[in-house]
Amino acid sequence: MRYILSVCFTVVLFGQVQSQSSSKMDFEKYEPVNTLVVPEHVVTKAKFPFIDVHNHQWGMGTQNLDDLIKEMDKMNMKVMVNLSGQGGDALKKMIGNVKDHHPKRFIIFTNINFNGVGEDGWIDKAVKQLEEDVKNGANGLKIFKNLGFSVKDKDGKRVAVDDARLDKIWEKCGELKIPVLIHTADPKPFWDPLDEKNERWLELATHPNRKRGPNDPEPWEDLIEEQHRMFKKHKKTTFIAAHFGWYPNDLGHLGKLLDDMPNVVVEFGAVIAELGRQPRQAKEFFTKYQDRILFGKDSWVPEEYNTYFRVLETNDEYFPYHKKYHAFWAMYGMGLPDDILKKVYYKNALRIIPNIDKTLFPD
Ligand SMILES: [Zn+2]
Repeated sequence: MRYILSVCFTVVLFGQVQSQSSSKMDFEKYEPVNTLVVPEHVVTKAKFPFIDVHNHQWGMGTQNLDDLIKEMDKMNMKVMVNLSGQGGDALKKMIGNVKDHHPKRFIIFTNINFNGVGEDGWIDKAVKQLEEDVKNGANGLKIFKNLGFSVKDKDGKRVAVDDARLDKIWEKCGELKIPVLIHTADPKPFWDPLDEKNERWLELATHPNRKRGPNDPEPWEDLIEEQHRMFKKHKKTTFIAAHFGWYPNDLGHLGKLLDDMPNVVVEFGAVIAELGRQPRQAKEFFTKYQDRILFGKDSWVPEEYNTYFRVLETNDEYFPYHKKYHAFWAMYGMGLPDDILKKVYYKNALRIIPNIDKTLFPD
């Protein structure tokens, strides 16, 4: 992997050999020991039982759920929402495993197979499958970012997020009263030049396949607008915009969007580092939009949840985030009060996602 910002080298200056190895170093190597002494409150277990609305367990049909439950219990995760239900028989298998072993601890969202958009009968088949999946026990629909990026119709044309040929899907979700959790596009810096000004430079340098040209496949703003047009066209459907709709770094703008689209809520999977660098602004946002925010994490790395709890619950200052390519900056806690924490940890999810047992949670 090539991500050396500057290599150690030797220069000959006025006949003198100077080694610069002490003044230049690899960006990733720089890990100074924090000398700041302030109160620390590491939180390994959430203050209230919580629902993680953004999780992926592809093998849920066959996996030993006891192992998951052990990890969940350690951190006080009462219910995990597995967004990778896949639909059809794979979904049935997952739901069977859950019902047989831990029926109250898992919720599964189904997915749509976009192969053949535009073909005769495709949409009716997709809607019928969705209805059947919900009958079989799915409690939501997850749309992956392939819609907008790589999904093509029968003629090989990119299918936009707000393509009218998909309208029946969103309408059906409203009718069935299930939410749609949707991830569109990616962080905006992925579209920006890969240079010293790019905040995601390290992520792009270590994950080069995430880098996009300015119009690949569309400008970032256009993809996000496609999503918003779709949200506005289907007001009776509840949408959960994943990753704070990719506006965790502009909460003023996100607030306006939420004002404008009452059928939309957000979850903060993979973007807690954005909130942890603006604890005052974030706290204001969480106060104003306390009914519109759900707890999500995305990648299943149990020890990383600590950072989420600590940012949400404590007033700690300057503590580390767990992934340098997301954030080379330190975190600060928002110190949210209990009534807001309860909404974010479980009350909002209980209101939006059907069939979660409310008796598992305090009032
Ligand atoms: Zn995800």
